[in-house]
Amino acid sequence: MVFIPERVFIRERALDYPLGRRLKERFIKEGFPVIVLKPRQRIATRLSPGARQGYIAAKKTLVVTVAGTDSFLSSKPSADYQLPLASGCTGFCEYCYLQTTLGKHPYVQVYVNVGEVLARAGRYMAESDSVVTFEGSCTSDPLPTEPYTGALRRSILFFAAQPRGRFRFVTKYTEVEPLLSLQHNGHTRFRFSINSERVIKNYEHATPPLGERLKATLKVLDAGYPSGFIVAPIILDGDWRADYRDLFEQVRRTCGDLKGKDVTFELITHRYTERAKSTILEVFPKTTLPMDPADRQYKRGQFGYGKYVYPRELMQETREFFTQTLNKMFPGTQVQYFV
Ligand code: SF4
Repeated sequence: MVFIPERVFIRERALDYPLGRRLKERFIKEGFPVIVLKPRQRIATRLSPGARQGYIAAKKTLVVTVAGTDSFLSSKPSADYQLPLASGCTGFCEYCYLQTTLGKHPYVQVYVNVGEVLARAGRYMAESDSVVTFEGSCTSDPLPTEPYTGALRRSILFFAAQPRGRFRFVTKYTEVEPLLSLQHNGHTRFRFSINSERVIKNYEHATPPLGERLKATLKVLDAGYPSGFIVAPIILDGDWRADYRDLFEQVRRTCGDLKGKDVTFELITHRYTERAKSTILEVFPKTTLPMDPADRQYKRGQFGYGKYVYPRELMQETREFFTQTLNKMFPGTQVQYFV
């Protein structure tokens, strides 16, 4: 699923970079409506009337711009820093973590100054005595826009040459072929986001099915990349134990027992903020996503906004279930974190 935008906005200063100019030429040649934005000119916020239509229109809008590189935000618990390669995503997952950060107009943005972003990462590494890790998927799923920017390709090759830098990113998408033959030197962890069939069917619209994601994982493992699975969000609804046991059985059927492979599991339970809930209810008015505060515990988050998480006892029970199930089905694999 390569992202095919319906309209393209290009920030004028993006044209100072070769990639910005190439993208402008390419989109015009391919017949896309292209608008160059003057400094401080806002993207038309009302591309379509109504919250849902405006949200859908934003997701089909590509913005070509320049990433800020003064400092990178933290990316705990996954990595030390966020690596800004893109923001927004073409998928329509109801629970998406970007509902909080991008709100009701989640444009898909790509950055043309990948070289500057990587140079800034290089300075963080130079200032540190130990290995520094960078996460490339904090604000987007970066794979659908890769054919336009080559940002993942450049990052993988850059980090391959860094003794003290590691790169990681996660995707639900499956167009992995162009990245398979790159020299990565084991410095990039190429992970996949997976979930139970029920969660995918109910909440992860416009994303590839589980079977396709697992086939892509197998290709990435065969290419020798360190890999992993993010199971997120873990939704504790219905017979969730059976659903997640089925999920791991499917992983084992396609990818084997992962013995001798460098594969990690990251486990993230469902949580939501008030802001995300309000966007979700407007954009997906028929959502069945469980968001009743009576079933949750309120927790203050690292970026200043509070979130509703599952209660402590249920979290403990869930952690035990996942650790035991994974230890049994994939002996020796590592659970990197559970939150
Ligand atoms: S694929 Fe990931 S980033 Fe994209 S909408 Fe779904 S959860 Fe959000």
